Amino acid sequence: MKAIQLEKPQTLRIVEIPEPESPSPGEALVRVHRVGICGTDYAGYLGMLPMFTYPRIPGHELGVEVLAVGSGVSHVRVGDRCVVEPYINDPGSWASRQGRPNCCENLRVLGVTMDGGLRSRFLLPARKLHPAPGLTFDQAALVETLAVGAHAVARGGCGPGQTVVVIGAGPVGLSVMEALRRVEARTVVLDSAPARLDFVRQRLKLAEVIQAKGDATDIQQLEQLTSGRLAECVIDTTGNPRSVGSSLKFAGHSGRMVFVGISNQELTFPQALWHRRELSVMSSRNAVPSDFQRVIEWISSGQLETRHWVTHTAGMDEMLSEFGRWLNPAAGVVRALVRVDL
Ligand SMILES: [Zn+2]
Repeated sequence: MKAIQLEKPQTLRIVEIPEPESPSPGEALVRVHRVGICGTDYAGYLGMLPMFTYPRIPGHELGVEVLAVGSGVSHVRVGDRCVVEPYINDPGSWASRQGRPNCCENLRVLGVTMDGGLRSRFLLPARKLHPAPGLTFDQAALVETLAVGAHAVARGGCGPGQTVVVIGAGPVGLSVMEALRRVEARTVVLDSAPARLDFVRQRLKLAEVIQAKGDATDIQQLEQLTSGRLAECVIDTTGNPRSVGSSLKFAGHSGRMVFVGISNQELTFPQALWHRRELSVMSSRNAVPSDFQRVIEWISSGQLETRHWVTHTAGMDEMLSEFGRWLNPAAGVVRALVRVDL
């Protein structure tokens, strides 16, 4: 059976691996149809993710079909089209018992700390499958990335009419914007790259954008848009420590900050401003099952249009030659999808 393995940083190859066994109790055997490739995969390829170990079969954004289920599995059946929630948590852990499996202390992630979906078939705990009968396999492979945005918006408590500033218009920022549209929040997007802001205006039809210059004019633009009130919530998707440190000033009094990005560096905050405005600061990691279910519902009911998300596709062999090109920002990749061979 065919798989794509990241043998070591910058070395992807096609390998032959043994067929999986029959599913044990609680497990499912799935056939992988589509795999979305995101920033995590690019960072793993470049050797920039500390938690990524090698050799590794990447792939955590998966559209799959159920081939067989073990005993005790009743919520999915053979032939079901499903989305995979790739966060393999320990159900007995403290965080899992609080309903927060996304930040479980023993969390393993498919395609990052354990082998993922760039292979024809594999076994996984059936509880990690979300049936998505109304979605295409392409759409199913987009759900994880959209669920990450939905989770950040839920963490921020964003709702109708609230002004939310999204910092960073990369793929994570776009998934946050999609979720903000669904909860009817007013979205203001801030990014330094004009091309990304053009994409947001044209494809997402979001008119309120700020081209960041990193000086006082950024905040002045937000003050003009909000009559001086600033944002009720700021969601930073950049992971850039400088951006994260300065993003606090966009939140108005009693506002909330959500950090979705990740950085290995320390962050510094203007503490007096944080105190004066009594800001709530929180992180957002991965997504929880209800985020997946919400996104599946949004797509299958037509509320969330996925057409502009898939910009590049390739078969498994093609992926090896295309991967280097996808890394280049000039390629304009929003999401690249791999069609997995049988
Ligand atoms: Zn991803």
